[in-house]
Amino acid sequence: LRTRKAEPQGPQKIPGVNHIIAIASGKGGVGKSTVSSNLACALAQQGRRVGLLDADVYGPSQPRMLGVSGRPASPDGKTILPLRNHGVTMMSIGLMTNDDQAVVWRGPMLMGALQQMMTQVQWGALDVLLVDLPPGTGDVQMTLSQKAQVDGAIVVSTPQDVALLDARKGIDMFKQLNVPLLGMIENMSTHICSACGHEEHVFGHGGVASEAAKLGVPLLAEIPLDLQIRLASDGGAPIVVSQPDSGQAKAFHDVAAAL
Ligand code: ADP
Repeated sequence: LRTRKAEPQGPQKIPGVNHIIAIASGKGGVGKSTVSSNLACALAQQGRRVGLLDADVYGPSQPRMLGVSGRPASPDGKTILPLRNHGVTMMSIGLMTNDDQAVVWRGPMLMGALQQMMTQVQWGALDVLLVDLPPGTGDVQMTLSQKAQVDGAIVVSTPQDVALLDARKGIDMFKQLNVPLLGMIENMSTHICSACGHEEHVFGHGGVASEAAKLGVPLLAEIPLDLQIRLASDGGAPIVVSQPDSGQAKAFHDVAAAL
């Protein structure tokens, strides 16, 4: 990991946090949160001090995926204590609202919440803080990149054309924001039937690999569409934790080791 040099008036470091890596996608539902939680757990298992900031304001899924619940405490009324599970220090916008409460905030409120999560949460000393971004190229992405010194971004996409089209926009946004692209991850790359072993490319195959090649960035992983990955995440223990010896866990470990 290379640390970007802080510019005096530009994006600032979060105190105690060595590196910030954004996990992004063009479209929702492509597995960005699944990748974020598994990557965070893999980093923790590899001995890194890791945090996960769930900034997916429209669909915060990290509390469920990492199996944490309850409202974070604020003993002094000013700072917020993050929660912790599977070796990952985490904070989610989802922990600041009720489960069924839709987030219908306007831009400035959103930015306030994001700022709060960056500056008021006691992250402690971290090697890496992963930020699970909302899909797309909106205010949260801009604010994060302008206020915090993001060292790199990973873009998650399915191989499907529509997803790739939006992923390209995301990649272009990071270029404009001067955030280095660390690589791409193809999720739901292939599906192997657990009953008969037949392999099917539900969303096509290889689209992300060729996009990454075109852009000259690494293809960090190809993750299969796999029932176990979904069940593990829904159960609050990502596959890296619940089935650490599986091939799927290895794929996430390889990405973590390369960061
Ligand atoms: P995003 O963050 O991009 O909106 P999620 O990570 O929330 O996407 O994933 C959307 C849904 O798809 C979730 O139910 C998740 O468990 C499931 N999912 C994601 N990746 C996989 C995969 N590789 N195999 C099976 N299910 C997956």
